[in-house]
Amino acid sequence: MQDYHEFLDEILIDATTLQERISELGVEISQDYKDKDLHLICILRGGILFLTDLMRQISIPHTIDFMAISSYGVGDRESSGQVRLTMDLRDPIKGRNVLLVEDIVDSGYTLASVLGLLGTRKPASLKVCTLLDKAERRETEVPIDYVGFVIPNKYVFGYGLDLDEFYRELPFIGVVNEEKYTPPDH
Ligand code: 5GP
Repeated sequence: MQDYHEFLDEILIDATTLQERISELGVEISQDYKDKDLHLICILRGGILFLTDLMRQISIPHTIDFMAISSYGVGDRESSGQVRLTMDLRDPIKGRNVLLVEDIVDSGYTLASVLGLLGTRKPASLKVCTLLDKAERRETEVPIDYVGFVIPNKYVFGYGLDLDEFYRELPFIGVVNEEKYTPPDH
């Protein structure tokens, strides 16, 4: 496995900056959902680090659930807009105040598709919190209620986001130098 230092172009968001912003988001969400039954839904796998750190900054009682999707990409790093549910939520969301926790919104197709799916289940409210927003790449308009960071159009990894399933454990968001990165041969 390649050492990430070999292809790390730059650290876009360091660990301290990430944690500071997540703490702010936690405060904001706690205020907005005061006296409501907040239910966080994390889309596996990219959102897990964000979810677990965000939860610790939310000061009101809340529940969590997970779902997994796979997108039919037109290329490895392009979203086709079509997603397939590979693991459904454990609990019904009808009548609940759902906050979808996402790692990154790029074209917006994945989020639009997930929102469409969850919307049919009649939650009391359905909002979105994304850590990263590649706003300039948006191809379909999607409502986002909480944004950690708006980032430029660069392929990033770390803090839940993978490169061919690896490097999710890194505590920062890094930019990959595609010319120096070699995908694993598994
Ligand atoms: P969208 O449907 O908005 O184009 O794509 C969203 C999904 O694409 C994200 O959930 C994520 O899995 C993947 N993605 C988009 N940009 C990046 C990126 O810069 N790095 C990584 N690792 N994944 C990304």
